[in-house]
This record gives sequence, structure tokens and C-alpha cells, in this order.
Amino acid sequence: MTGPVVTVQATSAAMLAAWSSGRMPDVELVCPDTWAVAMAIPGEHLTYSLAYLIRGADGRVHVVDPGWDSEQNFAALGDALALIDRSLRDVATVTVTHFHSDHFGMAGRLNRECGAEVAMSSREQSALSLMEANRPSAEDDARQLDGWGVPRNRRPELEAARSRGPAAPRGAADRLLEEGDVLPIAGRQIQVVLTPGHTSGHLCLVDSDNHVIFTGDHVLPTIYSGLGLGGATETNPIADYVASLDCLAPYDQFVVGPGHEFLFSGLAARRRELADHHLRRSSEVRKLLEAAPGLTTWEIAARITWTAGWENLRGFYVLSALAQISSHVEYVRASGSPQASDGT
Ligand SMILES: [Zn+2]
Repeated sequence: MTGPVVTVQATSAAMLAAWSSGRMPDVELVCPDTWAVAMAIPGEHLTYSLAYLIRGADGRVHVVDPGWDSEQNFAALGDALALIDRSLRDVATVTVTHFHSDHFGMAGRLNRECGAEVAMSSREQSALSLMEANRPSAEDDARQLDGWGVPRNRRPELEAARSRGPAAPRGAADRLLEEGDVLPIAGRQIQVVLTPGHTSGHLCLVDSDNHVIFTGDHVLPTIYSGLGLGGATETNPIADYVASLDCLAPYDQFVVGPGHEFLFSGLAARRRELADHHLRRSSEVRKLLEAAPGLTTWEIAARITWTAGWENLRGFYVLSALAQISSHVEYVRASGSPQASDGT
């Protein structure tokens, strides 16, 4: 869902040019001993994710978000390593911002074939383990579509989208990360900041020496990431996300290495824009519910402003939209509304 206006400043003209024309960018130096590498994503929506290679003082290489698991990407990673006079044997660790396949994807393979240690936040690992243990049945899925009020004529499309959807990657991390942890990279100080919202255990990585922050899918330059896409949580993804945007205030002057699109600066303005986008949506949901408290999730979604237009959303994107509207409904109810005291 690309917004029409780019408010951030791309820090690499070459990357911006590639992104603008829908091409994969070349390997890009982010800061000393740190590179961005585009990894192809199958399908029609996003062309690539960005993996990051961080070289330690001992020459070992640490990968952030290795990208979709494919032969093409494995070869691309090998080529990028060759460019910096390294090989797959030099990959010491893989750290993932979150467990989505376009970020986590190759982690297992790098563990098996290169002996790389895999790290993710302990909260993300818990969510992943819970999803693996409780895969919803067809009946659970049908019950959820009923609960959202999906009309009969759209059921086959959404059921098919769900069965085609990417399975959550299986796997366990070798190292569980907590807020403030420093990655084990010789001569570098790269620190974990937990940023739940997109998924419940999403993390960002801060390189204060070089004024760079790696943001995964938490903050992207033009895309509004979906929220609550990491399994069931006890907290509300909208509230988590807005709070996680505030957590990045100390890094407003840093260069941002996002999980997709291009490197940029202007984090302060982008944080405001992202918070406004989601809070505006919550406020739209609040107004609709105040006017008609009995609206179903589907009816609300159909009345909300969507960047791509509700009528243009299909399959997985409809499911994602409905899941997010149900989070907004919960957020609006939890944060209270003028009618809440009337028992609505
Ligand atoms: Zn994601």
C-alpha cells in the first residue's frame, strides 16, 4: 500500500532510482563495514526486502533479515559476500527483526549450511512457537470469517487466500534477545530496541556509533505496515505500535535501514506520519461505531478509507484489512468512547 507522497529523504540516489522504477537495487554501503542487499520476494506485491550485512572487526559477517528462502536469494547473498571478500562460511549470526518469511526466510538454511547462530526476540520466539502449536483448523477460520461478517459471495476468495498464505516459518532461535541486548559482533555496538506492533516481538537494531537504525517492517519510507500480523497477543497491536514509534525518538537524526524500499533520513516526520495514519483510522472506526454500534468488522472495513481503495483489495489483503479493523475496534473500545459509559 504505497502512499502517494514521499515525505522522507532517500540517502542513496541509486537506491531511490531502483525503487522508483521497480528494480532491485545494487548492494549499497550503509556505513563502514555495513551493506544493504536486496532479496527478491516471489509474488506481485513487494519486489524485494533488504537484508543487511554487518562485518565485525574479526572479519566475521552478521546478517540482519536474510530474506525469502530461495535459491536465487541464497546465490545473491553469496555474491554480496564475495563483493566484500567474504563467503557464506564467514556468516557467524543471523538476527531477524520478526518472523515473516520475507525477513526470516533463509535463517534456517544459514544455520544448517553455514553454522550461523539465529537470534530473534524472546517475545517473537514465543509467538512463533504458539502459532506452530495452535495452527487454526478450517473450522476456526470459518468461525473467524463469520465473526467478521464476511458476505457469502466473498467467502471462497478469502478461504482460498488463507489456505495459500505463507506458512509461518518453523524454527527456534539459538539466541533470544531482550531490550538493550548488544549483538555479539566484534568491535561493533549494535543494540536491540523492542518495537511490538507489526508483530508482537518485532525488534529494531541501533548502531549508535554510525547513527544508523535498522527498522525491519516497523518503519518503512512509504509503506504503511500492517499491524498485529504476528499471531494472537494479549496486548493491542495498535496501542503497541504507537508506543513503539515513540521509542524511536532518540534516533530521529539517524539514517534508517528499513526492511523494504530504500535507505532514508527523516525518521521524526515519518514516525508522526505513521502514528497519524493509524490513529486516523482508529478515529474513523470510532465515529462509525458511535453512529452505528452494531456494524460488523466487514461493514466497518468497507466504509474506511484505504490507500488502495477497499474495492481494489483482494484475497490476503482483505484478510489483513479485516484483522486490522478488528484490532482498531478493540483499541477504540479499550480506550473508551463517548458512548462507552452508556454500556455500548
Ligand atoms: Zn513483516
